[in-house]
Amino acid sequence: MVKLGANIIFNGEKCEVTRNSKLLAVGEIVGKLYMLKIVQNEEVNIAKDESNLKLWHCRYGHLGMDYISKLINDKMVTGMDTVHDERCVACEGCIMGKHISYKISKRKGKASY
Ligand SMILES: [Zn+2]
Repeated sequence: MVKLGANIIFNGEKCEVTRNSKLLAVGEIVGKLYMLKIVQNEEVNIAKDESNLKLWHCRYGHLGMDYISKLINDKMVTGMDTVHDERCVACEGCIMGKHISYKISKRKGKASY
């Protein structure tokens, strides 16, 4: 942590981890080690609110976008009241998975240099 620019202040059986004057974690000694608890901050909460079609597409094992939309529109899944993002976002994993691969034929004989 120190190599990443964090400062650790030990105060008896407690410690605080800060970076750029922001409190990142607080620790309390348990046995011979300090048990750290991450302090929630706004940046973490913003990252949680990332619900869109592509995220659900990945969560459902790269299910087709039409089926994801059907799950949302027909309310087939509870808790999937997500922001309906109509923009079709290309999924890199699906694109790579649909690439056609050809076998490389074995040549007889040796290459001549
Ligand atoms: Zn995909």
